[in-house]
Amino acid sequence: MAGNLTFDELKSAARSGDIDTVLVCCVDMQGRLMGKRFHVQNFIDSSHQETHCCNYMLATDLEMATPDGYATTSWRAGYGDYVMKPDLSTMRRVPWLDGTAMVLCDLLDHKTHKPVPQSPRQILKVQIARLKELGYEAMMATELEFFLFEQSFRELAQSGYRELTPISAYNEDYHILQTTKEEGIMRPVRNHLFAAGIPIENSKGEAETGQEELNIRYAEALDCADHHTIAKHAVKEIAWAQGRSVTFLPKWHPKKVGSSSHVHMSLWSGKTPVFRDESGEYGMSELMRHFMAGLIEYASDYTWFMAPYVNSYKRFMKGSFAPTRTVWSVDNRTAGFRLCGEGSKAVRVECRIGGSDMNPYLAQAALLAAGIRGIEDKLKLAPPTGGDIYENAEARHIPSTLRASTETLRSSKMLREAMGDDVIDHYVRCAEWEQEEFDKAVTDWEIARGFERA
Ligand code: ADP
Repeated sequence: MAGNLTFDELKSAARSGDIDTVLVCCVDMQGRLMGKRFHVQNFIDSSHQETHCCNYMLATDLEMATPDGYATTSWRAGYGDYVMKPDLSTMRRVPWLDGTAMVLCDLLDHKTHKPVPQSPRQILKVQIARLKELGYEAMMATELEFFLFEQSFRELAQSGYRELTPISAYNEDYHILQTTKEEGIMRPVRNHLFAAGIPIENSKGEAETGQEELNIRYAEALDCADHHTIAKHAVKEIAWAQGRSVTFLPKWHPKKVGSSSHVHMSLWSGKTPVFRDESGEYGMSELMRHFMAGLIEYASDYTWFMAPYVNSYKRFMKGSFAPTRTVWSVDNRTAGFRLCGEGSKAVRVECRIGGSDMNPYLAQAALLAAGIRGIEDKLKLAPPTGGDIYENAEARHIPSTLRASTETLRSSKMLREAMGDDVIDHYVRCAEWEQEEFDKAVTDWEIARGFERA
């Protein structure tokens, strides 16, 4: 069980007055928790079976605007309902909110009760099932990086996001003194999440002022995405409750490093890590080599799933630890893919492309689709690349703008075959809309540069 609260335990917690509220949540295209707060009695009596939400839940942008162009729903189709079907195995306590539990839902078609193909949880489940057909399970870990600020969300919004003061004053990579100053937020983050059944490993300072990283122990892919989503939500709520703010924007300041979400992956067959072969080079099996060759071959196809906004691409800069090229390396942080745990049972690949704004369900699904294709086609892995890969002119680039990654997504035969045209067309529309909205904006940079001089 992925959560830590059974239905019977919920009933008894309701009787004792321990729990009075159940958050019934689904995950939207942006990877956010959306849903309703139920009185626990109603949840126990009926809504644990199903509840409903408007089917615009998978067709809105960050601002909840309702763009046209989606085949699944529209003004013309009248914006009907989806069924929210609680997955009771995900039920858990929410220790940072009084008297509260949470359950994640799958989204089902209102009439047929079949899974909605465009739902991020469903998209990941499909790739997990494909992998299972081959006889494997994926173990994954997504690192969360973010910045903490002195001011509250409201104060920053009222200042037009101009007076942003990171909570610590200098680079805090691995810094114990600096991160002590952040324990007011980070200690409850670690402890509350752990008590919610999320296997927190550690938090650490990252390589900027006010930047933190939260590490969660690797888990089966769907659990990993659930953990990531709940953890991101918790960090925001815990910071908010203390009058502080946090951002998962990949690049909030041009001179400060960005925030990423690296994805660690290994395949297993039962309890056996099948990426491992003691006799193979670096302890890597042939299977791992094919999987990695797929990740590298199709990196451009799925970049949008790792970097879905205009801002995501501001992170990919030379000399920033964010990758720009699709090669692999042995424990070298300048490559898009890094071999970790070489020669050990924990041999795995880390994809460094993802930004802190990625939807973990979509990102993991896309990575698995590419790796599966690598296995199916027995793709050959090129030798590792060393040195400063930013300067390696032979290595291929990942798309460097939202516009470019939208086109590589649109034309990806691999992803269309793996996920279906209905899914890819849906997310291409999501990507196009984001660009259309940005194209309407007049930025501060344009005004400052041209107001007098142009
Ligand atoms: P680093 O700091 O060098 O990136 P860590 O040792 O902190 O690496 O591990 C990063 C993540 O990798 C952790 O979340 C950990 O749970 C995960 N991890 C460890 N072993 C495996 C594995 N076999 N498969 C997938 N993820 C793993």
